Amino acid sequence: MNKQEATKRLDGTMALEDVMEEAAAWKRHTSGNKVTFSRNIFIPLTNICRDRCTYCTFQRRPGDAGARIIPEEEVLDKARRAAALGCTEVLVSLGDKADVFPEVRTWLQERGFRNMMDYVVYICSRIIEETGLLPHTNAGIIGTFHLDQLKPVNASMGMMLETMSRRLCGPGQVHEHAPDKLPHRRYRYIEEAGKRQIPFTTGVLLGIGETIEERVEALEAIRDLHDTYGHIQEVIVQNYQRKPGMEDGAAGEVSEDELLRTTALAVTMLQGNVHVQVPPNLNEKRMHRLLRAGISDWGGVSPLTVDYINPESPWPGLDTLAKVTAEAGMVLEERLPVYDSHTGGAFLEEPVKSAVEQLQQKKKRELIG
Ligand code: SF4
Repeated sequence: MNKQEATKRLDGTMALEDVMEEAAAWKRHTSGNKVTFSRNIFIPLTNICRDRCTYCTFQRRPGDAGARIIPEEEVLDKARRAAALGCTEVLVSLGDKADVFPEVRTWLQERGFRNMMDYVVYICSRIIEETGLLPHTNAGIIGTFHLDQLKPVNASMGMMLETMSRRLCGPGQVHEHAPDKLPHRRYRYIEEAGKRQIPFTTGVLLGIGETIEERVEALEAIRDLHDTYGHIQEVIVQNYQRKPGMEDGAAGEVSEDELLRTTALAVTMLQGNVHVQVPPNLNEKRMHRLLRAGISDWGGVSPLTVDYINPESPWPGLDTLAKVTAEAGMVLEERLPVYDSHTGGAFLEEPVKSAVEQLQQKKKRELIG
């Protein structure tokens, strides 16, 4: 689909119902009536970040109230509790380049780590060893050396592309003070993950001041990366949500119709080959319509931890997800943090490969039992 055709689906030239039905047909064609989720816990390993995106309430600087790095014992304690609750995924998420700050480097050196990414690699390997759960790391842009080290200890990795708009890094825009949000750097990082065949989750962020054309360009970039490397397993269409008392600069919430149109366009552009997900905790009142717009996944849902990026928006219970999905004539199914489509070939390496196989067998036994 070319840019002009894609734009028609966002600018109102095509009726919303037609845009949604087209996407729903692609979804039915590739994943039938199945809608998946991953049972996870969220470990915000550090909220210290060198960037300042205007819409972010997660980010802290050393010395700020609530700034912290989570120590190993606390991560493993949470992971053990998650394993007992039947979780399979540990989402390890952290701010960008926290170790540019001397306080962070001191904390790491006191524990024998040269930098933050050495700590992340260590934590992921300990999670697998201790609990058999599967790390999924989102550490922002990291170097290729650490990407190579993280692959064997991650079932999949992620980073939102968010946008391809360099304009949004300009004066007065949301990414003016966020060097790690330069779109070409993010694109190249996702490309490096592709060259290494790392199963990857990415997505777009709506409502940060982007135009319709820029939304199309971001989805085109993701499609092109997947066409080249085949490593994109899911695309998140995330709507920015304003938080109380927030100075969010040029950001502003998108309407429900805009969210539905962009979600449906993502499904259609990716022809159902990549799962499309919209966070249900940010859209609890729209879940029925999102299913009709072709989504095939509800993302990570945790019985133990909150969404630390959007702590004011609790995840719906699994009973609610199952009910809404069933009302749309579909079936809710649990998945691992790596989709079945991305477990073969060169996608997984030891030790995470064996951990994935063990959890697959366990889930099969539970289904039979
Ligand atoms: S890079 Fe991520 S954590 Fe850092 S300020 Fe931006 S959104 Fe927040």
